[in-house]
Amino acid sequence: MMNISRTVAFSKDAANIFFHILTSCNLRCRHCYINPAQHGTQTLDIETIASWLNVFAAKERKANVIFLGGEPTLHPGLPDVVKTARNLGFQSITIDTNGYLFNDVLRKLSPDDVDVISFSLDGATCGVNDSLRGNGSYEACLKGIRKAVSGGFHTSLIYTVSSANFHELEKMPDILTMLGVERFFIQVIGIRGQSVHSAGAELVQVSPEQWLKSVPAVAEAVASRGIPVIYPKVFLKPDEPFECAGKVARNYFIFPNGRVYRCPLCEDYPLHGGILNPDGLTPTQPVNETDLFKLNIPEGCVMNRLIQPDNIRYLPDGSPEYRIACCLLKEEVAAYADSPEFQAMSARDITR
Ligand code: SF4
Ligand code: SF4
Repeated sequence: MMNISRTVAFSKDAANIFFHILTSCNLRCRHCYINPAQHGTQTLDIETIASWLNVFAAKERKANVIFLGGEPTLHPGLPDVVKTARNLGFQSITIDTNGYLFNDVLRKLSPDDVDVISFSLDGATCGVNDSLRGNGSYEACLKGIRKAVSGGFHTSLIYTVSSANFHELEKMPDILTMLGVERFFIQVIGIRGQSVHSAGAELVQVSPEQWLKSVPAVAEAVASRGIPVIYPKVFLKPDEPFECAGKVARNYFIFPNGRVYRCPLCEDYPLHGGILNPDGLTPTQPVNETDLFKLNIPEGCVMNRLIQPDNIRYLPDGSPEYRIACCLLKEEVAAYADSPEFQAMSARDITR
């Protein structure tokens, strides 16, 4: 069977709402992007969550909603808000979890309530994963996946690649097959949030050569087992167009303090383009992320150039060796591209 690979074009037709309902978490992952100073420390009450969902339902009913945190299952009202989102008619609902599945959440939900439970694991072995995510997190995640699979829930798994776990990526096809996970997302570590403080401690992005040599090959291996894979494009070929999702797509990253960003790379700064308040979603005053999206630079993504310039290399004439794609631009690989499952992937299989 031949795998099919394609770049997922940004679409004005599909919106994605990444709803951080709290920022607290039982883990302290070394690369966590949550930044309480910028995102807030409050746990939103279910009334506020419902009212913000209503704001988006009015303008983006066909959106995919992803509940995350912090650890969203720490919120005892999560099953209720998932059901509220379902009743509002959103296109799909995903819960992103570290696997601990607090508050007996799976018993309070059915596979009809939630489209995907998405787990995070950052190593193929307990040693590597737990060195990044904390003691016990590997076993907890595997236990959570098994529980979800046996309960009939659709599952996916996110693996965030850094210099610390890159070497274990090739072991992931066996782990995914063993667990019965249906989709695999490979992420790239961002130098944001907690990673800013870990950057000096050997937790850094892999080189372009390492990424391009390994990630597509692992994606092919996983896809060959019938598990579709999505990973960020990162490096654009000379003939590939650069597009900023902030300009051409509809992604909303909502935080408990009411900030709404359109770009994940802006989330460490007060650059949010919108704020949720009793009047609904209100644009913020310039200068904000929207002003940055308009800038055209030879390096591609403006925010990448500003906050992680070390991942760009230059030729002797001063021009960049390659352009960095929007962090939201993804590549999909699957063995059954004509099937309805693959056609539906872009709509519901979403990561940040
Ligand atoms: S990365 Fe996720 S699981 Fe880890 S500390 Fe941050 S919110 Fe918690
Ligand atoms: S990551 Fe870069 S290209 Fe993507 S939305 Fe942000 S600024 Fe735009």
